[in-house]
Amino acid sequence: MSIDFGNDIYEEPIVAKTFLQEDAQEGSLRPKTLREYIGQEKAKDNLAVFIQAAQKRGEALDHVLLHGPPGLGKTTLAGIIAQEMGAGIRITSGPAIEKPGDLAALLTNLNEGDILFVDEIHRLNRVVEEILYPAMEDFAIDIIVGKGPSANSIRLDLPKFTLVGATTRAGQLSAPLRDRFGVSPRLELYTPEELAKIVTRSATILGMDIDPKGAMEIASRSRGTPRIANRFLRRVRDFAQVMGDGTITKEAAQMALHRLEVDELGLDNIDRRMLTAIIRNYSGGPVGLETLAATIGEEAVTLEDVCEPYLMQLGFIMRTPRGRICTQAAYDHMKIPMPQSGKLDGQTSLLD
Ligand code: ADP
Repeated sequence: MSIDFGNDIYEEPIVAKTFLQEDAQEGSLRPKTLREYIGQEKAKDNLAVFIQAAQKRGEALDHVLLHGPPGLGKTTLAGIIAQEMGAGIRITSGPAIEKPGDLAALLTNLNEGDILFVDEIHRLNRVVEEILYPAMEDFAIDIIVGKGPSANSIRLDLPKFTLVGATTRAGQLSAPLRDRFGVSPRLELYTPEELAKIVTRSATILGMDIDPKGAMEIASRSRGTPRIANRFLRRVRDFAQVMGDGTITKEAAQMALHRLEVDELGLDNIDRRMLTAIIRNYSGGPVGLETLAATIGEEAVTLEDVCEPYLMQLGFIMRTPRGRICTQAAYDHMKIPMPQSGKLDGQTSLLD
């Protein structure tokens, strides 16, 4: 998608799954303490208790697995845990740890109480994962020295560290790895009210003027995701500066997001193509994810991780054993009349 927006051409999809170059400022927007971290009350309350208990005992915190869709604040929360524990943090990701030696080097360089943050932990390879088991459980690793018949295994003690794993797909974690985490809070999509607070906080940090209705307009179109809300905020600011006095108002937000092809519910081009394809090409479904992805020329993982959680939260699509189906609400939103017979019967029987 290429969008002409004022003087800039934005090449990336606005609702991109991953970190974009323009998110580089994220660091300054990251809350540093649990008090500053908006929303996710359940996860925060649990973590606060675990942190306090570990501090009282003077021990390292139990291993934590954070799971939920991208951009909800998992990396941010890992940084906060380190800050609250007064510990250091090393950041890496599942695919970056290729060999057991890479993990051994990381682990042996940690200090007592440090946090090791492994993003996308479901993408660790099995050989590396097996080194992690004794490391998490006994704070030790076995390394093989030498080759052939003279090879020897030596046990290396590690400092007591805390592994904070993050994943968008807890279901893909092997059971032995999942079981070794003491706490595994799930992060939920944020409400528009929480996102409005996040947007207002970010605007203040970035020195922007924003009025409450402007914040709410951005928030309600950010599909429950702080990273997207912050991204929209920057785009709307560009627009407000070119079109008005720089203040982020409801009108500026509406105009900017309309130009970015983000509708009033926050659906972007990919979401709409996904819904249209289910409705037009597959008569409302059911259709398998891979087939759907091929139809609209997107990756299945983008549809599953980014589009679906939000479309399901809106009640626009449902998952059935035979694939995805669109609901009446999706037809209404896309302004396509829902057929009265045939498909509906098929869909209903799938849900029975
Ligand atoms: P994830 O690791 O889940 O992909 P991040 O931790 O990188 O997400 O969060 C993306 C951005 O969203 C951060 O830079 C931060 O500014 C913002 N953010 C996330 N969660 C919150 C929150 N609870 N309060 C305020 N800002 C948040």
